[in-house]
Amino acid sequence: MAQGMPGGTGAGALLSILRDGRARTRAELVQLTGLSRSAVSQRIDALLHQRLILPAEETTPSGGRPATAFSFNREARVVLAADLGVTHARIAVSDLGGAVLAERAADLPIDSGPEPTLSWVLDTFRELLAECGHIASDVCGVGVGLPGPVDHESGTAVNPPIMPGWDGFPVPDWLGERLGVPVLVDNDVNIMTLGEHWAVYPEVEHLIFVKAGTGIGCGIIAGRRLHRGARGAAGDIGHIRIPTIDQVQCRCGYVGCLEAVAGGAALVARLRDVGLDVANGRDVVRLTKEGNPLAIRLVRQGGREVGSALASIVNFFNPTLIVIGGDLVEAGDHLLAGVREMIYGRSLPLATQSLGIRASELGDRAGVTGAAVMVIERILAPETVDRSVTT
Ligand SMILES: [Zn+2]
Repeated sequence: MAQGMPGGTGAGALLSILRDGRARTRAELVQLTGLSRSAVSQRIDALLHQRLILPAEETTPSGGRPATAFSFNREARVVLAADLGVTHARIAVSDLGGAVLAERAADLPIDSGPEPTLSWVLDTFRELLAECGHIASDVCGVGVGLPGPVDHESGTAVNPPIMPGWDGFPVPDWLGERLGVPVLVDNDVNIMTLGEHWAVYPEVEHLIFVKAGTGIGCGIIAGRRLHRGARGAAGDIGHIRIPTIDQVQCRCGYVGCLEAVAGGAALVARLRDVGLDVANGRDVVRLTKEGNPLAIRLVRQGGREVGSALASIVNFFNPTLIVIGGDLVEAGDHLLAGVREMIYGRSLPLATQSLGIRASELGDRAGVTGAAVMVIERILAPETVDRSVTT
């Protein structure tokens, strides 16, 4: 019996081994899986037939007869990814290894409603496919991130506060009917979390990703897997009540929420109050880079508010790493300094002993990377591969 093969003993489990990018011979695969040589050959044939692996001649170390090695074919299919924010969108085509083959960013207001937004996404997908030399039949799935609460199972937004017309809209059906492939949907923070963890910190067991943009939210990796909670609402820290601050009205209807004080929209409002010309989080970042003292002070204080909310979460969840992303993190050290000050000052020593707090490495690409990864991990899951090679 095969030992130590995650995901069973089928072709999908064999593919999981090869996904690390190293080519391996039949003999190596027999040794790694504990399967018989004929069983390994049968699974290799199935994967070759699907073009999920490719053969390559390799000379044996002893200089004897060359043995054929097999490697994962990351170019076998492509994935379409869309990261839809409140005011702008990023669309990409990626290979099965998560590498972006073509991408586009554009201003796209989500409040124009689902059909106009998704029509633009669909047109852009088709243009990008042509740009990187692919056709519709190369596409194996679509991943979409939305800037509001999403029920991941049904792929629909649930009472999104700033997305008129999107509540319950069947995004997977609408895009699926037009593209003929599975469509997975999640909220923007979860896909950013997936992307950053997968591309930059795959070995980290417990990670929190905070998006500090127009709003504030966080994604949770627990035991190397995204934790969505019972209904997909896990990590919604934007509406934690910050006790020490003024009674600021939040868009959720309550007062004193973290987002209402430290979110990009709140900082924009404060800067406009003193007559500065700012429209969004990127303008706030620009002001901090120009050395505007009020902008710097607001961003740093915002960092402290985020940090004080995170301090309790650090005690509760004990992550190894906190990654801060979103527009506001581009303001450099001002935001992170505030976050660090409160977390290290208020969390328990055992929880902060080896805790890292860093800015996102992927930046504004975290979302499309994660949207693609969400699809890749579904399509290449051993059980999915096993089903596709037997039908
Ligand atoms: Zn709120």
